[in-house]
Amino acid sequence: MEKKEFRAESKRLLDLMVNSIYTHKEIFLRELISNASDAIDKIYYKALTDENIIFNKDDYYIRIVADKDNRTLTISDTGIGMSKEELEDNLGIIANSGSFAFKKENELRDGFDIIGQFGVGFYSAFMVSETVTVISKGFGSDEAYKWESNGADGYTIEPCKKDNIGTDIILKIKQNSEDEKYDEFLEEYRLRGIIKKYSDFIRYPIKMDITKS
Ligand code: ADP
Ligand code: MG
Repeated sequence: MEKKEFRAESKRLLDLMVNSIYTHKEIFLRELISNASDAIDKIYYKALTDENIIFNKDDYYIRIVADKDNRTLTISDTGIGMSKEELEDNLGIIANSGSFAFKKENELRDGFDIIGQFGVGFYSAFMVSETVTVISKGFGSDEAYKWESNGADGYTIEPCKKDNIGTDIILKIKQNSEDEKYDEFLEEYRLRGIIKKYSDFIRYPIKMDITKS
């Protein structure tokens, strides 16, 4: 297992996102579902140009599993997945695309609903999570890797087991505090509501399982 530091800039942006923007915490789910959908799109586009890849619609979906006992919310996709290098490049640097747009815009404007207006990306998961674990197996690879971070001090990456190509994002949902409630992000009705509000247009099936406690 290797332990790496976030770049300083990432740290600052992460602090800003997690600590300054309390409204609209729910948008983390929109961001993770949109990444899952993008990952499936990537296989779909590959299949258009490569006749060796058959895109069978039924094999591509997004699954949301809330486990109240373990306080985990898992967002899985059967998309293109990430190699070890891609995990590091894409999740180790906050300034990547969506997150970058957020940062730039935020320097220019002071409005509070900025976060609702465009993608803030993967890191929004830390608004509701103590720990974020990403288990991924990249297209064309036999190896899977586990990326894990508590947001504050870097991430770890290590080999792990995963059968199919794709990505599982496992959020360890924060404990309720006096002024912040997080339990709702493990409730089926609440999750359904968020999906309906922000992800209704997603063109792959979103399947949902709830483990009752
Ligand atoms: P954006 O989606 O705007 O590029 P994000 O911060 O949401 O920015 O995600 C950063 C990058 O991480 C994505 O561009 C993608 O390469 C990678 N990524 C995130 N989630 C997934 C996923 N579920 N499957 C494959 N790649 C992913
Ligand atoms: Mg994104």
